[in-house]
Amino acid sequence: MAEKVSVVKCDSYDEELVLEKVREALDLIGFKIKQGSKVLLKPNVLSAKSPDEAITTHPALVNAICFILKEKKCKISIGDSSGIGIEGTREAFKKTGIEGIAKRYNAEIIPFEESKIVYKKINGKILKGIHISKSLLDADFIINMPKLKTHALVGYTGAVKNMFGIIPGGKKSYYHKICGNQTAFADLLVDIYNCRIPDLNIMDGIIGMEGNGPAAGKIKKTGIIIASKSGIALDFVAAKIIGFKTEDILTNKALVKRNLKPEIEVVGEKNIKIKYEQPIKTIRKVPGFMLKIFYSLVNPEIKVNKKKCKKCLVCLKACPVKAISLINNKIKINRKKCILCYCCHELCPEKAIIIWKSSIARFITSLKNWVKKVIK
Ligand code: SF4
Ligand code: SF4
Repeated sequence: MAEKVSVVKCDSYDEELVLEKVREALDLIGFKIKQGSKVLLKPNVLSAKSPDEAITTHPALVNAICFILKEKKCKISIGDSSGIGIEGTREAFKKTGIEGIAKRYNAEIIPFEESKIVYKKINGKILKGIHISKSLLDADFIINMPKLKTHALVGYTGAVKNMFGIIPGGKKSYYHKICGNQTAFADLLVDIYNCRIPDLNIMDGIIGMEGNGPAAGKIKKTGIIIASKSGIALDFVAAKIIGFKTEDILTNKALVKRNLKPEIEVVGEKNIKIKYEQPIKTIRKVPGFMLKIFYSLVNPEIKVNKKKCKKCLVCLKACPVKAISLINNKIKINRKKCILCYCCHELCPEKAIIIWKSSIARFITSLKNWVKKVIK
């Protein structure tokens, strides 16, 4: 049976209008949910940006979904991991306006890197297992809420790419590093998406981003909401709407190669076309070994100041992935296991845990801060 994908016009973030249009989009695909379900929303909370910057899922959409779920007496939580360091995700939830919506519906905010982490074996093309938040496995129903944006690395960021945010903390940049090239990275994104396939996908395409997304592109008024039970089907429909071919989007290309593209039936608005500017493709042509070197240089590392450490073992007990051990009376950190959640850094009473950055990483951070100041 073909996967239904609904496309509905919606030209503003007025809460009432968005609620009406979300209901329409969900009705078109025959959405149903069991009363009292435990539901986890996964919006795009990439960074601490205002919703007007079109980088993150707009709170009006989160509001609409929460409203509909509350009618069904669902228990709602909203999770993501922006992976930008201590307080990163919490701050991002606040700035994007999603925290305010969570309070309105008594929904729990879950920065994945702060939650209980479990290891899940998977049979992916690139990955054989991943560390994810237990909240993803505990949820009866997951609603994936991507933002319609281009992406310099893989072409576009939609339903499949949005689930990369389930990887807690800074481990995301480690995955960039191990892939070595963009094709392998696209396959890794498909592996992660398949690890816990969302039950519903609803895309914020009211105002999207074209050009060099996901954060530095141009805001694009698009006026659509797209919904589907299949995130993969949604991605192919969204790509067609913005005028991208399968080969322009590496995740879609990987899905076709892996025979994962389903039959698709578009319902609602069938003929919308809003041409998006493509991201520059230079970054996709960078040789894999150079990317590996780059990511090795910019990836932070957790280190222990042996002089300050009093071997209290607070960090060892707190580490969610058991990456810390006491060997020969010294605290050791297993870099391969570490997901860079920074819990140990936060909890160490002696301030003995250091987030070490290479001089290149430090230079990039100061450059970014300088640009921010100049723009302000
Ligand atoms: S919490 Fe700090 S002081 Fe305690 S063992 Fe870990 S590094 Fe050492
Ligand atoms: S070593 Fe520290 S930063 Fe790494 S996973 Fe454990 S607690 Fe988190």
